Amino acid sequence: MQHVELRDVNKRFGTFDAIKHLSLGIEKGQFCALLGPSGCGKSTLLRMIAGLEEVTAGDIFINGDNVTDTPPAKRRIAMVFQSYALYPHMTVRQNIGFSLSIAHAPKEFADKRIAEVAKMLQLEQLLDRKPAQLSGGQRQRVAIGRSLVREPEVFLFDEPLSNLDAMLRVQMRLELAKLHKDLKTTMIYVTHDQVEAMTLADKIVVLDAGEISQVGTPLELYNNPANRFVASFIGSPGMNFLPVTASGMDGLNATLGLNGGTPIIVQTKTPLGKSDPMGLEMGLRPEHIHVTSPDDGSAVLKGNVSIVEQLGNSTILYVDTAAGQFVVEEDGSIGTKSGDNVGLVLDRKNIHVFGSGGLTV
Ligand code: ATP
Repeated sequence: MQHVELRDVNKRFGTFDAIKHLSLGIEKGQFCALLGPSGCGKSTLLRMIAGLEEVTAGDIFINGDNVTDTPPAKRRIAMVFQSYALYPHMTVRQNIGFSLSIAHAPKEFADKRIAEVAKMLQLEQLLDRKPAQLSGGQRQRVAIGRSLVREPEVFLFDEPLSNLDAMLRVQMRLELAKLHKDLKTTMIYVTHDQVEAMTLADKIVVLDAGEISQVGTPLELYNNPANRFVASFIGSPGMNFLPVTASGMDGLNATLGLNGGTPIIVQTKTPLGKSDPMGLEMGLRPEHIHVTSPDDGSAVLKGNVSIVEQLGNSTILYVDTAAGQFVVEEDGSIGTKSGDNVGLVLDRKNIHVFGSGGLTV
């Protein structure tokens, strides 16, 4: 049985379908990231699971119970927002214990629970401070503590780290990963940041315009994107996309030609049909391309390096070729400079081919 299940859920605002007949199952204890660009419907979906947004059609189940019409307070879920939404006049202790106080929990129980949560989130020294006396990361920890104290069935996070600076985001990301490891509670996490989704989630749901584009583990999405949208959204620097023509097809072997390049034989997932050769694109991640000398026989293309970005552990090269610009990720120690003429070796096993509709073929 799925712990959280959406069956054919639709959400309409006026005449606009923000969520289009979407079905999804999330297992107990899973960390599921809802990933997609701004406006794809991530928050709407999360708010429907929370009961904060009415469902236009379809059903939502939590633990096997149909909660579609159940009020938020009775769903045993806890939601953490991007804006911490702490009560400014209350101390950390009061903020964390707020839901227990309105539920009239016995003082002894509440004190014990607040102490446990404060310990887990390293807030013990800050319990008597007000939110204004805390850093952004500490405030977000209090917001998490406030939801943790209720021992929810499911945690819902709506871009909880977006307001934090880059270093704090990384630190909080690790804390969330540890929290999930310790609690083993089902977590659903909305983000537009693919790194957050890749590092935290067991399962990523990529959303595109209110529909599921692909569901999978981080590595499934990275290595086997179902379409161009997922391929372009996952990975940084992003995948290279270049127009290709198919000059020969033999079952799953297709001979692809890049403008100005030597033909390459790649394996496709499905046989290319007669109508496919038009509008084909090749996708290749920057780490699957290597620079070599222009007269190296293994080079498929020749090009000129326009920009070099030194990142220390790696070097990002922008190489202009007759087929288009390639972004190449090389070792940090590579000596290639801007203006150099190079050959490009493409790692054939990692070439993706997309048909005219953007689907992986
Ligand atoms: P972001 O990352 O920018 O928060 P999102 O993926 O969470 O985006 P949603 O907030 O779920 O996107 O919105 C999905 C779509 O529904 C958007 O086009 C948005 O404009 C629309 N929408 C959301 N809420 C309403 C509303 N109350 N009335 C009308 N349209 C809405």
